[in-house]
Amino acid sequence: SNDVLGRTEGGDLRLARLSKRYGSFTAVDDLNLTVPQGSFFALLGASGCGKTTTLRMVSGLEEPTTGQIFLGDDDVTDRKPYRRPVNTVFQNYALFPHLDIFENVAFGLRRRGVKDVKKQVGDMLGLVELGHLAKRKPNQLSGGQQQRIALARALINQPQVLLLDEPLGALDLKLRRQMQIELKRIQLEVGLTFVHVTHDQEEAMTMADTIAVMNAGRIEQMGSPAELYENPRTTFVANFLGRSNLIPGTVEGVSGDVVTVAAHGQRLTLDAGRCRTTSGPVILGVRPEKVQIARTADEVPAGFNSLTGGKVVDTSFIGVSTQYLVELASGEELSVFEQNTGREIQRPGSEVLVYWDPGQGFGLEGGQDIEAG
Ligand code: ATP
Repeated sequence: SNDVLGRTEGGDLRLARLSKRYGSFTAVDDLNLTVPQGSFFALLGASGCGKTTTLRMVSGLEEPTTGQIFLGDDDVTDRKPYRRPVNTVFQNYALFPHLDIFENVAFGLRRRGVKDVKKQVGDMLGLVELGHLAKRKPNQLSGGQQQRIALARALINQPQVLLLDEPLGALDLKLRRQMQIELKRIQLEVGLTFVHVTHDQEEAMTMADTIAVMNAGRIEQMGSPAELYENPRTTFVANFLGRSNLIPGTVEGVSGDVVTVAAHGQRLTLDAGRCRTTSGPVILGVRPEKVQIARTADEVPAGFNSLTGGKVVDTSFIGVSTQYLVELASGEELSVFEQNTGREIQRPGSEVLVYWDPGQGFGLEGGQDIEAG
């Protein structure tokens, strides 16, 4: 399927015990990571967590303090940047202002003395759907168009791995959404390994097959967007990807595949398979869209978890859903997102209870900082 680039070899990108220290500060901490060849991989994390440093070590712009970088069977750790089959696309496009679009894309080929420039540049401009702008200068293009040219200019060098460092950060929200879909299409078409760095969880979830959530130089969790969303392993991941209600409690017992938890003076249950601890303190998590609101206990289906004694403190109607903030008797607040299906909307001040299917909750080890993320 890779007829534009004509090749897909190279193997997996593997980081083995990779660390970067600046003085006594550890920016990247003993990273072990395999990015399968041909995947769209996102490194997701807050500012300063070590994403860019990791990317710069892969491209060779930064030297690891310890550890190794492999591409397939090749150890590339000590190779100069230009000797690695890796290219980077940055947020600030870095196009040559005095060259037209055609020559910007042709640049890498000309430098390598390639003959058949016209056909390859034409194919590449076709891939990013900007063939009609070949004669323009970069300053005559929109930000989104410039970013596509930057992508074409990197891809024409036939890297095995394309690194994208917040490539859409400079674009407005609407254009960013379009480019997310566009980048995903191009990645599928060329079949290369893309490693995308972003702090935007929605962007990572939209594009990547696999996301590694980074925190303080380490990988907190890695998996598909759905895996991370449905089964976060830490409160950091539960809060960083989407919203979570996190309810601290204590495991009362395990019976078959049901874990019983005491929380807020009430009894809740969850599936043992989704609970990371079987005794002691636990944090029961449930996504706001899995929680519903009721006026009376008889509206709650048998076997569901419920917390009584709540009061609506905020109601936001946002079209597809109504979002509630419910204060429990303990003073803690719970978020509830209800699909707008014509149910009665509860106003602030309403006394309510909240309920959810026990199969929709997840259990995390207690004692974690719930505010993290
Ligand atoms: P951002 O999204 O803001 O770019 P990031 O996750 O990419 O964040 P890095 O740029 O990798 O973070 O930086 C990780 C940490 O290492 C930060 O705390 C940063 O201050 C520190 N750091 C980066 N480069 C250096 C340097 N040359 N000297 C000292 N500290 C550095």
